[in-house]
Amino acid sequence: MTRNLLKYWENCRLTGNRPLFTVCSLTIAQGVNVHRGNRRTTGSTTMAMPADGSPRRLGVFAASLVAGAAIASGLWMSRPGVETALEQTLATVPVELEEIVPTARKIDPFESIVIVIRRNDTLDALFRQLELSLADLAELRRLPDVRKALDRLLPGDVITLQHLDGQLRSLTRKLSDTATLSVTRAEGGFAADIIENPLETEAATLAGTIDSSLFLAVNGSGGSDALAIALADVFKYDIDFVNEVQPGDSFAVAYEQQFQDGEFLRDGEILAAEFVNKGRVFRAVRYVMPDGGVEYFTPEGENVRKAFLRFPVAFGRVSSGFNLARRHPILNTVRAHKGIDFAAPVGTPIKAAGDGRVVHRGVKGGYGNTVILAHPGSVTTLYGHMSRYRRGLSVGEKVKQGEVIGYIGMTGLATGPHLHYEYRVNGVHRNPATIPVPRAKSIPADLREDFLASSAPLLARLDSLGASEQTRVALVTP
Ligand SMILES: [Zn+2]
Repeated sequence: MTRNLLKYWENCRLTGNRPLFTVCSLTIAQGVNVHRGNRRTTGSTTMAMPADGSPRRLGVFAASLVAGAAIASGLWMSRPGVETALEQTLATVPVELEEIVPTARKIDPFESIVIVIRRNDTLDALFRQLELSLADLAELRRLPDVRKALDRLLPGDVITLQHLDGQLRSLTRKLSDTATLSVTRAEGGFAADIIENPLETEAATLAGTIDSSLFLAVNGSGGSDALAIALADVFKYDIDFVNEVQPGDSFAVAYEQQFQDGEFLRDGEILAAEFVNKGRVFRAVRYVMPDGGVEYFTPEGENVRKAFLRFPVAFGRVSSGFNLARRHPILNTVRAHKGIDFAAPVGTPIKAAGDGRVVHRGVKGGYGNTVILAHPGSVTTLYGHMSRYRRGLSVGEKVKQGEVIGYIGMTGLATGPHLHYEYRVNGVHRNPATIPVPRAKSIPADLREDFLASSAPLLARLDSLGASEQTRVALVTP
């Protein structure tokens, strides 16, 4: 017996910066509801299966879902707003379901919708657009703790809901990596639960030798790009990973991996690492300070970090160096260039070079939009020509090294987008590229014992990774 049944796709919403996902209602007949959620793609599929049939043809559905996602991705990109763009396109697709459905009496449209929050979206507006019951929304908001969990929406947040003719049946919202709000309609109204789904952390180690690049070496040993970036981040104060890394350099790293539901999620923190660059051995061990901040120290307890970043822009190119007799490109007069220019596209983040406090934020003559930071040791740093400041940045605010303070632009006297960066000691301009920069604070005396005790097993793990002969020699040499 063969029957052609209607299925329809509705409210498929896709996002460009995440894995594709779609949500579809697939109605076959009155019957049992099979709900399957897929955590990794944030997708959700609702299928109504016949009560007396068995879902033997799930493969058919799976293939249709993929096709729908592919079509929807093309449609979605150019169609903002909550729309049922696919209704016309995919209104009816016949699916063969012999053996499964003895009788198909009535279409029972019940729908699952995934909403990806965009800037300025509110639940109220979304409910109106989707023609969902506003009374249900009001009732949801009256539940203890739910209002807070629902009203604070950020772009990219995902809300999944099910409804029957606009009457809400359930709603879920991921609150964090490990917690999901789940609201379902029960006998006496809505009931809310927070479902905990903890991360599991496992220790991992990795070692390798560089042939061409750090990325390829880390990938080749089974590590992620994120791990390669984290490794370079630990040693960036001493090693120029763009220009100085060469074949034969090696690394060893002890780190954490995060799993959820038994599946690998991502590489976590680096606990200890070693990098051998041109025969020089660098080692760093992670330590959590009493205030919760994280520092990396050498095995001897010296800070790996320096008090100032060499470059306040991650991927800038030095377009004009420190020069006390430079001809100014716009004014065409000899005028000292008492800073360094970093050329980078408009909007590239600018980072605080060191821990400090904002002492100026505003237009400053030819510098255009400018931020000045004051640091310990009578050092000030200046960042000019910004397109804009970091949202909320204000005078008097404390900033941490590496924190974004603004974005590259070309305000003031500038021929193209770049950061003009100055470094002054006691008011005197110094060349930030050559001035010796002190290390950040070593491990405090009262924490030294604890640091040595906690770092010993991590260093032992690095040793067990079969560190290079070079490394062993270096380790026995005081
Ligand atoms: Zn400049």
